[in-house]
Amino acid sequence: MTVQRSWIAEANDPATGFPLANLPFGVFLRAHDRHLGIAIGDSILDLRACVDLGYFDQLPQRLRDACWQPTLNNLMSQGRAASRAVREAAMQILAENSAARDNRLLIPQAGASMLLPVEVPDYTDFYASIHHATRVGRLFRPDNPLLPNYKYVPIGYHGRASSIVVSGTPIRRPSGQLKLPDVPAPVFAPTRSLDYELEAGFLIGQGSTHGEPVPIDQADDHIFGFCLVNDWSARDIQSWEYQPLGPFLAKSFATTISPWIVTLDALEPFRVPGLERPAGDPGPLPYLAGEADRTRGAFDIQMEVYLHTLQMRAANKPPVRLSHSSLRHLYWTPAQMLAHHTSNGCPMRPGDLLASGTVSGPEDSSRGCLLEITERGAKPLTLPDGEVRTFLEDGDEVILRAWCEKPGHPRISFGECRGAILPASS
Ligand code: CA
Repeated sequence: MTVQRSWIAEANDPATGFPLANLPFGVFLRAHDRHLGIAIGDSILDLRACVDLGYFDQLPQRLRDACWQPTLNNLMSQGRAASRAVREAAMQILAENSAARDNRLLIPQAGASMLLPVEVPDYTDFYASIHHATRVGRLFRPDNPLLPNYKYVPIGYHGRASSIVVSGTPIRRPSGQLKLPDVPAPVFAPTRSLDYELEAGFLIGQGSTHGEPVPIDQADDHIFGFCLVNDWSARDIQSWEYQPLGPFLAKSFATTISPWIVTLDALEPFRVPGLERPAGDPGPLPYLAGEADRTRGAFDIQMEVYLHTLQMRAANKPPVRLSHSSLRHLYWTPAQMLAHHTSNGCPMRPGDLLASGTVSGPEDSSRGCLLEITERGAKPLTLPDGEVRTFLEDGDEVILRAWCEKPGHPRISFGECRGAILPASS
């Protein structure tokens, strides 16, 4: 495969995560206005400037209008062909042979203020990693870790869209009802077991109609792209409130997403067969089974979690990696999640976020949250500088990173999804 080159030198560096083959969408602040942008090398291509300076004149008016909006929702709502047309027009501007070498179209990524790229109408969080579900289940039900519905139903819960924030936003330690062991009544207090969850999310482009399920083989038409998601969780609040209706305030205080949305087109080379189900597992029910989904429904996205404590930052020490996994280990594919979510006629709206659930792999080094790593606090984690953690402390910063790579293809990055913990309000 010939790798296309850009006139922006940094975009051709094999170490960049933002070559011409990526071109993820985001929103940034420029002169007090929200501008749509595309990451390229260490720069951002300003899509509003592309319109204003006449570089998008070949695009239909509805797409030029979409590039002038304060969020990606309008572009997303126009479907996959629309976002592909804008991405390809950007690719032409940025390609090595382009006549449009105009620096007015670019701003440096360093120092740019990235904003929430999408107004998210609804947020659903799945539980698609069987490794996570089994490890967590074992903590609560040692003899029967995986509930009997798991291999039939993509389990999920309705999250709260109003508390989704962009990477870099500080996270205030929440207070809530905690039931301490050996005390008869709960107290209202700051959580003592604040956790992160390493997740990937996909954002809905073209919506679906109320009452009409999205068939599994048409799921791709409704997926705009992927981002990183940190589903912050207060484990003590969660364990007291979760029965019988699932997580509520333990999750809804904050969810962080990465600023760049990597399109389905950019991820095409990294599609892989869905997880091969072990012998004896039931096959998916017909509405969750598709030939294309079986052969290329999963995504080999490498995902990492780093922890940067206050003490490490003060000593100028780098963050410590806590986990490395791949999205390919999920039991359910994104298309299965979307087909299931709409199977009762529930409509999707442009910008809806569907997250994977904690991404954990089979190895101990691939456990995607502290609940798994410290076994609910029973096995504290000693960090290289001697600090000890069961759960997150005030001042801790959690950094999620993700990328795709394979021989013959440029590496593509999701960038980072960061958040640091502020003390509880007094
Ligand atoms: Ca989650």
